[in-house]
This record gives sequence, structure tokens and C-alpha cells, in this order.
Amino acid sequence: MNVAPQQLEFITNAMTVDVEDYFQVAAFEKCIRREDWPHWPVRVERNTRTVLELFERHGVHATFFVLGWVAERYPALVRDIGSAGHEIASHGFGHERLTNISRSEFRDSITRTKLLLEDLAGTPVYGYRAPSYSIGPTTLWAHEELREAGYRYSSSIVPIHHDLYGMPAAPRFAFYVEDSGLLEIPVTTVRRWGHNWPCGGGGYFRLLPYALFKRGLHRVNCHEQSSGVFYFHPWEVDPQQPRVPGVTLKNRVRHYLNLTRTAPRLERLVRDFHFDRMDRVFLAPGHADYPVVALQAAELGAH
Ligand SMILES: [Zn+2]
Repeated sequence: MNVAPQQLEFITNAMTVDVEDYFQVAAFEKCIRREDWPHWPVRVERNTRTVLELFERHGVHATFFVLGWVAERYPALVRDIGSAGHEIASHGFGHERLTNISRSEFRDSITRTKLLLEDLAGTPVYGYRAPSYSIGPTTLWAHEELREAGYRYSSSIVPIHHDLYGMPAAPRFAFYVEDSGLLEIPVTTVRRWGHNWPCGGGGYFRLLPYALFKRGLHRVNCHEQSSGVFYFHPWEVDPQQPRVPGVTLKNRVRHYLNLTRTAPRLERLVRDFHFDRMDRVFLAPGHADYPVVALQAAELGAH
């Protein structure tokens, strides 16, 4: 008897969406100044509603990491995400990478965004994801700040090598961060040939063949008996978004390639695997036996 399909039935993965607009991504920060954001046509509201419709068609509930900047301008969107049964979580206020702001600016950003989202959603906000996964060797104070601000988990680490982010030596699965006690839930990777390979979404989901992704997540679910964490952005389901001039070839490929493929691939993904909100997958009773790990800057190293 082939047990793999049966095992799949018992593993639920976390589906997550980082709610920000196309002009706020790190890949464009050299082309679009923050003060010019209000001049770009906003697409995040309609794109997020497209995502909500897709989830509703498939009966999927997800966690939405919403920027305070978006919530302030589109409060009805935040309410609608919450009333559709999804988890509202925080992506910070203005998408500042932690490496570019001070510890007290970070504290202000996560506190302000948490209060705003809780006010709109009418429920506590427990989850946080750092813009561009920017909790790294030089910003390890972030977990303590998150804990003090009342967050219960963070999903801000990708244990791979990447030019903009990544902590390849960090654990691949959920762990309590020593000292702060905050639960960190890394984005999914696959371990092969002595390295961690991306299998958690974002640009890789558009650039790599779907079959590779499917095999990777299947491996995590069935062979490692672990839940995966998948993420994408609303602008990735929007092939008609305005094109930003002056972008390098690398960033053009990263941002624009295969935008038409995201939605059909997502439809396949949610048919092939079980997904639910982060809090239900990782914070439910019975999941409390995560290891406690000390994140040492020296071991994690700059990349
Ligand atoms: Zn982001």
C-alpha cells in the first residue's frame, strides 16, 4: 500500500499572503522613492480581493500579513479579510527593512501596526512577518521587541542563501527563540545535497517548474512529517500592473516573469495540498513541543 497520499491527508500547511503593493517591494527601492508611493496607481486592494475570491472558491483559510500603510488606506479590506475567516497578522507599517531602521523605530512600527489591525479586525493580532525577511544576524533583537509588543510568533526567516535576505544556518522548522521565547516559523525549504533549497513561494514559485515545488512540499509533508509555510503577494496575481522604469534586468526577471502563471499555479497548489491559517497550524494545543534554539549572530554569519 502506498501510504504517502494518506499521510498527506493529515498534514496541513500554512498559506500566507504578504499584503503590499507592487511599488513597495525591495527590488524597486532604488527606482521608487518612499515619498513617491502615493503617486503610483494602487492595485493592492483589488488584487487582494482576487486572492480572497480564489481562496473562497477552494475553501482555503490563510494568514494575511498586512502592512499598516495599506490598512490605514483600505480599512474595509482588512475587515473583509477578517470576516471571511482569515487570520490578520502584521507586516509592519511602511515596509522598512529591519536593517535600515533603528530598534526604537522598529518598536514603533510593530506597535502602531498591531493596534491599527486589531482595531479594524476586532481580534488580537499574534503574527508578524518582517519586510523582505529582514530578521538577520544584525537584527536578532527583533524577536524580543515582538514579544514585548504582544506578538506570539514571527515568520521572518528563510534559511537559504539569497542576495537580499536569508539565514542558511537557521533551523528549517518552527522553534522558540532562546531569550525572547517567541515562536519563529521559517518559510519552507527542502534539504537536498547538503543545502537548503527554496520551496516556500515568492518569486521561486513563478520561476521554477510547478512539479519541482510539488515534489518539495510533498517531501516535507510525507518524509519529514512537517507542515510547510507558503507565501506570495497580491501583486503576483496581477499581470496588468504598471511597469516600473529603470529596473535592473535581474529585478525585472524577479518581479515580472511568469506573473500570468501565479493564479493557475495557486489553484493547483491548493488542490494538491491542505492549507490553513498560521495560527491554527502552528499555535494549536499539542504543537507546544518545538525546540528552543539560540540564534547566534556569529554562527548565522552575514551572507
Ligand atoms: Zn513584504
